[in-house]
Amino acid sequence: MPCGFMGKVLWVDLSNEKNPFKEEEIPEEIYKKFLSGYGLAAHLIFERQKPGLEAFDPGNILGIMTGILTGTGAFFSGRWMAVGKSPLTGTWGDANCGGYLAPALKKTGYDGIFFTGKSKKPVYLFIDGDKKELLDAGELWGKLDTNETEDKLKELHGKSFQVASIGPGGENLSLIAGIVNDYGRIAARSGLGALMGSKNLKALCVRGTHAVDIYDSETQSRLTADFMDDFCDYKHLCRDKTLGSITAKPLFSSLVRCLSTHNMLPDTEETDRYVMTHWGTCGITAMAANTGDSPVKNWKGVGYIDFPTNQAQYISNNYVTQYETQRYGCHHCPLRCGAKVSVPDGPFPMKDTHKPEYETLCAFGTMILADDVQRVIKVNDMLNRAGIDTISCGVVVAWAFEAYEQGVLTKETTGGLELTWGNSEAVVPLVEKIIQGEGIGAYLKDGVKRAAEHFKLDSMDYAMNAGGQELPMHDPRNHQGGLGLGVAYIAEPTPGRHTSSLDACGYYRTESEELKKKRTHMHTMKMKVNESEGDNLRDSSCFMDLVNGLGMCAFAWGNGVVPPIVEWTNAATGWDYDFEAYLLTARRIKTVRHAFNIREGITPEDTLMTTRATGNPPLKHGPNKGNTPDFLGARKEYYQAMGYDPETGKPLPETLDMLDLPGVKKALYG
Ligand code: SF4
Repeated sequence: MPCGFMGKVLWVDLSNEKNPFKEEEIPEEIYKKFLSGYGLAAHLIFERQKPGLEAFDPGNILGIMTGILTGTGAFFSGRWMAVGKSPLTGTWGDANCGGYLAPALKKTGYDGIFFTGKSKKPVYLFIDGDKKELLDAGELWGKLDTNETEDKLKELHGKSFQVASIGPGGENLSLIAGIVNDYGRIAARSGLGALMGSKNLKALCVRGTHAVDIYDSETQSRLTADFMDDFCDYKHLCRDKTLGSITAKPLFSSLVRCLSTHNMLPDTEETDRYVMTHWGTCGITAMAANTGDSPVKNWKGVGYIDFPTNQAQYISNNYVTQYETQRYGCHHCPLRCGAKVSVPDGPFPMKDTHKPEYETLCAFGTMILADDVQRVIKVNDMLNRAGIDTISCGVVVAWAFEAYEQGVLTKETTGGLELTWGNSEAVVPLVEKIIQGEGIGAYLKDGVKRAAEHFKLDSMDYAMNAGGQELPMHDPRNHQGGLGLGVAYIAEPTPGRHTSSLDACGYYRTESEELKKKRTHMHTMKMKVNESEGDNLRDSSCFMDLVNGLGMCAFAWGNGVVPPIVEWTNAATGWDYDFEAYLLTARRIKTVRHAFNIREGITPEDTLMTTRATGNPPLKHGPNKGNTPDFLGARKEYYQAMGYDPETGKPLPETLDMLDLPGVKKALYG
């Protein structure tokens, strides 16, 4: 009997009206080799999908996955994942999301649902226990945004159903569209909402009745209780409150920047935990702008010069949380970093919408020098309803601002909007055009690379992307760990993602004070856990495949309490692996995802990032002044450590043998 995982996946052939459903039992050996989540999906998609398909070919498979730990009682285990060939980048694509969908999906009895084909008319997948149907979505498609769709489906079927849907973004095949659940949580990256739209699939509406069996529930409960005891124990609460607050205060900005530049900012993991539980990710906006982590003015500016803390504070900490009406956490999460906000007055009154994350606050704040938090809340709400990635949209908006400055765009092309730095009033109407695909929005809705290609190739110099995906709001030129971050942007199977590689494995491995001291930043991979930089990059990178295979949230790390994922997983499944064995499994997963790209003809050149983000030309001022990290050299070291050819990135035959991937070897080498 499967424990921890459900042992089955569901295939839904949308082209087959009469008999669309097929269950497939997955042997335990496959879970041991690939876990669930991205891993199981990568294995099945690599095996089943024809190489070289166009983005919207019906043969492109869309997977909706959960993790091994989802529904087992382990904390932070409520992530679900969308996977498939990215319409945005042409590479392996994935996106990750919280909320309450994941446990409901798993309780349908499936670890993943794979959609193939294309429906003749809009439909949604309805699962209630063992009952499965494809139902007509004609009343939803083209009429309802994601919030309205969720309302409608809950009204029709009941409030205990969980819903994931696409909005106008996915329906219009916007290449930066995502898939939304819980009224505004979005699996945003890689344009997988467009893949869903291309299949005429509007939504999933699910209610599961199958329990997740646990091999050793006594141990599982004890581990979880012990974790919670540690998690609630703040040893220096006064310090954590003080540090959490002063980093957003203009009065202390020079001091904070100076300490940060010299790696002397007392940034402890307990403080990070306090910041996340108190403010969520908006608790770092002002500090990140000040210390060089956030890109400013479309990556050509410097925080303390162009957008100093006396501005950045307005999109940070209490200036955001003043609108909070309700704290919010994903399924079984003790950190509860989210919240609902309501804006009672001003130009855009709103009720109970999601609090914008750091990424969104930067994308529509530091990137265009705008400090109007109410407008960021409004844009966040608009894009969540439309099912469009706020990171990608913010990047294309910032590109438009710079293109306007350069004369590439004019008041005529923008439909009368003046895209001058700091003019946040132009943002809401511009985003509306992107959502509707109207006017200039028709060219911006497919992301920054295509926008630059359409208007003027020179503007590609400031179209901030890696491999076609818009860069997130963390600057790899930053002196604190930027090297590893930049390598992740250009070397990961899904380029341009900031959550695909962390130093989190260091947190797991190192209880020692000596190694903890060497941690300087969430993204640093410079800890000498291993002898070589390449090995550190490899382990940090592979660790996230473990996190995703288990269905965990990345914020589970960096809080000063190490989640016992090995013990949780062994207790849930009855396996008996140690951390090194799981890390090797993660390396296998990473390699299959990477091999998918190689088979698609993706080369290392295809996933490079815009040179401005590499420090070419270098910034003349600020914390990142003169920094031009050698990302290409580090990528070679990473490839070597992964067992790939350092020039082409192709996994070597002996690596594929070592990882027991004969099918991949055959596909790559014949
Ligand atoms: S830390 Fe935040 S994003 Fe992660 S699971 Fe908890 S509430 Fe969700």
